[in-house]
Amino acid sequence: MKPGTDNSKTLLAEELERRFSRRGTLRARLRRAVQVLLWLGVVQTTSLGKRAVDMGVALLLGMLFLPLMAPLWLWSKTQGKGLARSPRLGRWAVPYREWELTLPDTRLGRIAAMLHLNAVPALWNVVRGEMSLVGPRAVAPGEVSLAEQLVRRRHNVRPGLVCLWWIRQRANIAYGTEAEADAEYVDTQTVKGDLAIVLRAIPAMLYGEGIASASDEVAILGMRINNLTMDETLDALMAWADGDKPRQLCFVNADCMNIAFRNAAYREVLNRADLTVADGIGLKLAGKILRRDIRQNVNGTDLFPRLCATLDGRAGSVFLLGAKPGVADAVADWIRERHPAVRIAGTRNGYFTAEEEPEVIRQVAESGAQLLLVAFGAPRQDLWLAEHLPQLGVRAVMGVGGLFDFYSGRMPRAPQWMREIGMEWVFRFIQEPRRMWRRYLVGNVVFLWRVLAQRLREG
Ligand code: UDP
Repeated sequence: MKPGTDNSKTLLAEELERRFSRRGTLRARLRRAVQVLLWLGVVQTTSLGKRAVDMGVALLLGMLFLPLMAPLWLWSKTQGKGLARSPRLGRWAVPYREWELTLPDTRLGRIAAMLHLNAVPALWNVVRGEMSLVGPRAVAPGEVSLAEQLVRRRHNVRPGLVCLWWIRQRANIAYGTEAEADAEYVDTQTVKGDLAIVLRAIPAMLYGEGIASASDEVAILGMRINNLTMDETLDALMAWADGDKPRQLCFVNADCMNIAFRNAAYREVLNRADLTVADGIGLKLAGKILRRDIRQNVNGTDLFPRLCATLDGRAGSVFLLGAKPGVADAVADWIRERHPAVRIAGTRNGYFTAEEEPEVIRQVAESGAQLLLVAFGAPRQDLWLAEHLPQLGVRAVMGVGGLFDFYSGRMPRAPQWMREIGMEWVFRFIQEPRRMWRRYLVGNVVFLWRVLAQRLREG
């Protein structure tokens, strides 16, 4: 639900705000009592350990930042800014005021804001027990309805300076909704988990945001990228499946860009594909460097379960072509188990001879599949699809690289926390260093170097 769109909603928040704003000694006493309880952490639904860590770390950080913040505050005061407090809703929708340093719109002010120094005074809210270091995002009164508070289960914990959703947005992997991320956090939180989230917030800060200003199409190293989110890509695929002609989706990551740099045929396929989407943290960084923000990391592996869920809802069908013998069948089992309404139109491994190729194409064409996933690795899969698109008779096709290996259980995928810090490639490198060292250790540097050169050329 969008803020302020539903007037009929009874806001627990507004109700509490009204009650608290009535003057009188009862209100003052009540408020003090709640605060003392919160401060002590006695009525915690979470552990006292979390409260102790919050308090300890907030005090420590506060002391560390003081020598930096004091002059910054004085400077911002001379510019007509300074400290401010904004109304927020805390745990159980109890209102509090969040401290922040307002910064003038000058170069120094912008740098300080980029480093999030404006949020440092909120450490005081943490010390007071109104906030946590980690928790769902603090919302203003009226921003989230009671119903949504309940869905998010956020009413049971203190809002945090850092939240899971914020980190995922910055790593470009904020699929789903903020409410789901909140609920996931509340259901799984531990003190150790919180510390890990704080650590993950450090690279997240560097990745920056910028989704709002992104355009629909961006050019990176001469390649056209369709700047879509995961949901937009899914919508496009579904529209294709119902459409009248075959269309191809390509995922490009930093490695694909390097291959395209020296392989003209592949470059042409990517530029001619109906959609080419940005996969991975390398493209996000490239977008950042070139001031063309990439909206989301749209990769096959994260798209796949969402695609299956969508197909499940409309009894769609899919053909799985590629990987070693037996692997595509294991992926088919994965789909059948979770999405029984999806029809597996066919499976076939990706090791066939030139003589067998017409037979493979015939098998796909006769399967009646709406979607075709091909896992031969880049660039072969994309070149092969582009070449045979008219004969394949499938309206939505895409090359998916190592996806079948993940979903068949043949290869483990990087844990969520590694993806949140943009380090999935490190995991893949460790799994197969001999095959991957050139792709990642050399390839990433070469790619970023070319991007920097483009930026310098563009001035
Ligand atoms: N593969 C295939 N036929 C071939 C060569 C490779 O089906 O002739 C498969 C291989 O088994 C693997 C996938 O293609 O499942 C390529 O995986 P890789 O990890 O290289 O893909 P990436 O995601 O890195 O593009």
